[in-house]
This record gives sequence, structure tokens and C-alpha cells, in this order.
Amino acid sequence: MLPKNELRERIFSILREHDHRLTPQREAVVEVLIENSDAHLSAENIFMQTKHNYPDIGLATVYRTLELLESLGLVHKFEYGDGQSRYEVNQSADDHYHHHLICVKCGGIGEFKDDLLDEIEHAIAKETGFRVTDHCLRFFGICSECQAEPGENSDDD
Ligand SMILES: [Zn+2]
Ligand SMILES: [Zn+2]
Ligand SMILES: [Zn+2]
Repeated sequence: MLPKNELRERIFSILREHDHRLTPQREAVVEVLIENSDAHLSAENIFMQTKHNYPDIGLATVYRTLELLESLGLVHKFEYGDGQSRYEVNQSADDHYHHHLICVKCGGIGEFKDDLLDEIEHAIAKETGFRVTDHCLRFFGICSECQAEPGENSDDD
């Protein structure tokens, strides 16, 4: 995981490289994404938090900024399963995306950083000639905290 200042510098320099101005609105959105780099925020969440530092910003601007950052590969967007997209900063241009562990009880989103798909990626390349450059995996289940709650192992609830 990159330190926040390096992450910020990487995002700003890629925006500049692609001739996108660093407006105060964009900067405010990037700041929220960096401060919540492991939180998997929805656009609404990002909007609410950005409003703190930049009260004039509108939801449409937040969406447009997120789309721009996503198109440049700076932000990952993933579907959570409830119709609400979540966003997180892409820590590295080279690594494959980490896996998400979604708890169907509390809605918590955990992460699993080891790829563990090398064998599958090689098998796909060998059989189809397709070169895997990334993937997006969601595992659904019950997190350890929810499993520890009383009643979780009984059927009578
Ligand atoms: Zn992989
Ligand atoms: Zn849970
Ligand atoms: Zn994540």
C-alpha cells in the first residue's frame, strides 16, 4: 500500500498527463478517496464526505469525477450486490485487483490481498490464448464477527 502522499502525487500526475485540470472539486473528491482507501465507499458516501471540505460540490460532479478517475484506471468501481456501486483508489497500476469478501448478514466488505489465481490465469492462457490482465472477484458469505454472534449456529431464529 502506497503512503498517502505518494498515492496523491500519482493520481495528480496521471490527471495532468491526460490533460485533465486539477479543479478544487476533483481535488476534494480525490482527498476523500485517499482518506478512505480501505472503506469501499458508495458515491453518496463520497459526496457527503466531500461536502464537508467543499460545501458547494454537487452529486453530479462527484459522479463525473469518479467516472473520470475510473476511466484512467485510478479508481476501482465494483458492484456490491445491492445495486450500489462502491469505489476505492487503485493502489498500483500493475497488481491484479484484490478479492472482496462480502458478508450477507452485516453487509461488511473485507479484502483478501493474495491473488492465488496464477494457476487459473495460466490455464486460461494455455487453453484459449487469452491473456488475463485483471479480474474482479466477490465472495459472499458470513464474516467471522457475525459467526461469533449468539444464535448464528442454531436454526431456530
Ligand atoms: Zn490475478
Ligand atoms: Zn458480518
Ligand atoms: Zn477493496
